[in-house]
Amino acid sequence: MTIQLKDSQLLVVGAGIMGAGIAQVAAQAGHVVLLFDAREGAAADAKTRIDKGLEALVAKGRLTDDAAQTLLSRIEPIAALELATSVKIVIEAIVEKLDFKRGLFQELEALVSPQCVLATNTSSISVTAIANGLERPGRLVGMHFFNPVPLMKLVEVVSGLHTDPTVADAVFDLAKAWGKTPVHTKSTPGFIVNRIARPFYAETLALLLERAAEPPALDACVKAAGFRMGPCELMDLIGHDTNFAVTNSVYEANFFDKRYQPSLVQREMVEGGLLGRKSGRGFYRYGGDAAGATLPVALHDAPDVARSVVVHGHGAIADALEQAASKALEPQGWGPARESDSVWTGLAIDGARLVLTDGRSASEMAAELGTPDLAVFDRPLAPPWPAGHALAYALAAQASTSWRSQAPAWLTALGFAPQPLADAPGLVVARTVAMLINEAADVVLQGVCSPEGADAAMKLGVNYPQGPFEWLAGWGAREVVALLDALDAHYRGERYRASPWLRHAARLN
Ligand code: NAD
Repeated sequence: MTIQLKDSQLLVVGAGIMGAGIAQVAAQAGHVVLLFDAREGAAADAKTRIDKGLEALVAKGRLTDDAAQTLLSRIEPIAALELATSVKIVIEAIVEKLDFKRGLFQELEALVSPQCVLATNTSSISVTAIANGLERPGRLVGMHFFNPVPLMKLVEVVSGLHTDPTVADAVFDLAKAWGKTPVHTKSTPGFIVNRIARPFYAETLALLLERAAEPPALDACVKAAGFRMGPCELMDLIGHDTNFAVTNSVYEANFFDKRYQPSLVQREMVEGGLLGRKSGRGFYRYGGDAAGATLPVALHDAPDVARSVVVHGHGAIADALEQAASKALEPQGWGPARESDSVWTGLAIDGARLVLTDGRSASEMAAELGTPDLAVFDRPLAPPWPAGHALAYALAAQASTSWRSQAPAWLTALGFAPQPLADAPGLVVARTVAMLINEAADVVLQGVCSPEGADAAMKLGVNYPQGPFEWLAGWGAREVVALLDALDAHYRGERYRASPWLRHAARLN
């Protein structure tokens, strides 16, 4: 049996940021939308806000005046839920409290038809828990939109233990008909996006805790890897209170699994009122002339003339390093040698080494290889690299004074803008992306969603340049597991344990 929701009359409860957005999108798709809010006048205010937003679109020529008026005429603020007994679907976007949501759905069950679908836009509460106690819990499903609703394509369709699959399929089809990209997910803490995204913030916070670098350098490196915003900028934008609350809720909901442990750095900021943009100060200062981040620019002289340069390793990064080294050495009339069979990727420059991170610290690698003049560099973006690609590097503690200036000089000659980090294993991009992949692997292992679903969700829900499984395909499960194991050996704890899914994939390839 399929449930047909297209063009039906719909009720949105809660006329705040999300409810107004959902009402607008539903009306645009042709539904008559009844809009209710417990606060008197809030639904009418929401309609006025929608009107203002549409006027701006009309002024920009993105919508005709007629289309805006038609859309608006389909939205009807109502003063009592009793006026909505004939709707086929209710979408709830009220305050994020289990008791309130449960109470609302129990009240609605007494009013609407037994076939009416009940959807919740909760971002963190278990859909199974909200359904518990309903007369017909099978008709309750999560429909998790992202803010701003008219612009964000992703909808997580969340099934709890009770959810009838035909109900989940019906709201999946409805979201598609609204021009969204729905992804099925099980009701687990954080669903897909809020769970997989945790390491994006956590790894930078961990680096800040151990004073590996300052926010502008970390943000620059992460942005150079293709992310639209750096983690510090993004936490400032989201608000540290909100971001900390989501991390805490995922941590608690996972029985205090250390992998999700919140950061002391962020708690201190929240307690101090450094909430980010909204309070004028977070990692950066805002307002007046203090906006944004400034990255200190270090200029490096050309490296000293070398006697031998050998590019080690295989794959796209080694190939691109060879090209970059050839260009750097061209004025001297010679080029690098190549050793494609090496187990490491990077450059041997006379007796020194510039090595792509494999998760070991530079000092550890230098000791193991007996090469004191060693620096590790972070995982760059897939080549071709833009000029001045910010790239983190760390020097071995054993490195000579000369190598301390030669390593960044070589990275500059190769076309990068080197950013010095303390000798933290996995630097910033490599460890962050590895942990995003690892979390996604566990999500798939636990049947929360498919790899394709995880990729779509992360690209559309938080604008990642690639999905975790796309990164994995370009990197290799064996290499990602090796990096996580090296981090695990360094930090000793639960945080960096590799997902059994990933370990299995590593054995297969
Ligand atoms: P909001 O505070 O802007 O709006 C909530 C509205 O619900 C308010 O207008 C309030 O008066 C009303 N309300 C509260 N209790 C009610 C009740 N019992 N009956 C009817 N109306 C009631 O909140 P929001 O940001 O729109 O979030 C709403 C829901 O969407 C929450 O569950 C939230 O977790 C979820 N969500 C929020 C975002 C986001 O970025 N803001 C993203 C995804 C999901």
